[in-house]
Amino acid sequence: MKAVVCRGEQLDVADIPGIQPGHGQVLLNVVRCGICGSDIHARHHCDELADVLSEIGYGDFMRSDQRVVFGHEFCGEVAEYGPGCRKRTATGSHVVALPLIRRDGEPHAIGLSAKAPGAYAEQVVVEESLMLPVPNALPPDLSALTEPMAIGWHAVQRSEIGKRDVAMVIGCGPIGLAVIGALKARGVRTIVASDFSAARRELASRCGAEIVVDPVHQSPYEAGDRGHVNALPAAIDLLISTMEKLQRLPVPWQHVWRAVDTLGIKPKHPVIFECVGMPGVLDGVIASAPLFSRVIGVGVCMGEDRIRSSMAINKEIDLRFVVGYTPLEFRDTLHMIADGKLDARPLLTGLVGLDGVAAAFDALAKPEQHAKILIDPQSHAAQPAPPPSQRTT
Ligand SMILES: [Zn+2]
Repeated sequence: MKAVVCRGEQLDVADIPGIQPGHGQVLLNVVRCGICGSDIHARHHCDELADVLSEIGYGDFMRSDQRVVFGHEFCGEVAEYGPGCRKRTATGSHVVALPLIRRDGEPHAIGLSAKAPGAYAEQVVVEESLMLPVPNALPPDLSALTEPMAIGWHAVQRSEIGKRDVAMVIGCGPIGLAVIGALKARGVRTIVASDFSAARRELASRCGAEIVVDPVHQSPYEAGDRGHVNALPAAIDLLISTMEKLQRLPVPWQHVWRAVDTLGIKPKHPVIFECVGMPGVLDGVIASAPLFSRVIGVGVCMGEDRIRSSMAINKEIDLRFVVGYTPLEFRDTLHMIADGKLDARPLLTGLVGLDGVAAAFDALAKPEQHAKILIDPQSHAAQPAPPPSQRTT
């Protein structure tokens, strides 16, 4: 079958041997596959990430000297069931799947390991237990966005943000846009988005950001300030004035304070999603964010990054990192897209054939042009073109 093979930073279309579904596995004809920022990054820097994952016990993440077929954001058509399958979905139906698979008893990341070829190909094999039928005749251009949108949904779930909290999204690449869409779907009223690119800011608005800023001209922390505590003296002053008020009450102050604690009332603070993943950005967020902010690390920063923990401590920054999604979050994301509750459409900017993947990687390096490009293995497009759903006549 035809596939795009990456080796030593080179992307080439090649004929590779077809793969057979193992026990409990399903062979899919790939209908669409998204090009992910992780793929673009892995093409040049996979060895760094492979070293990190190997320290966590996964030794089969791709290495630059291996031949790897990328593609972990896909939608396909059921072609053939392997032995021991339940076969609940009819052959020919459209499905999506979590990109994880067992090969020879070992779990692997589909599309990011030489041992689990991905969907930059005519066919891909998935686990039947991780496969979901596409509901509501959702078009493949949108069902293929389930995976990246699920990353955003997971980040928002893990942030425990409330509808009345202010959300700030730093960086509006595909991940930032997925986070904005998920915040909107969760009912968060105030969403501030920040990006240097005008095109990305436009997409952020379309995804549901209420306030969109160019950080050169305006700080997102100022734009989203809703009575947050912005400096240490203000925090100390708040503490003293609160105690003065409590001491005036006819009941012992500690009972009131305990009741407030039980209700979970805390100083107002925004929830900030760091979706850039470049060295120095996290430290910049910690330094500029209001006190008591919750900061969610979503963008993957490769190599070493430096944060001043004394800064984070003195501002009592609540720092959380997120990765992937649960099967339930993946399922819910698919259904929210199908039900129109989660709008994935603004992300989609281009469609390309296997022969155009290298050109699409180049195009994705320029944020003014593209956010998410999907591969259609049946297409002969050698350059990314707007998908039919986005074309204006
Ligand atoms: Zn991805």
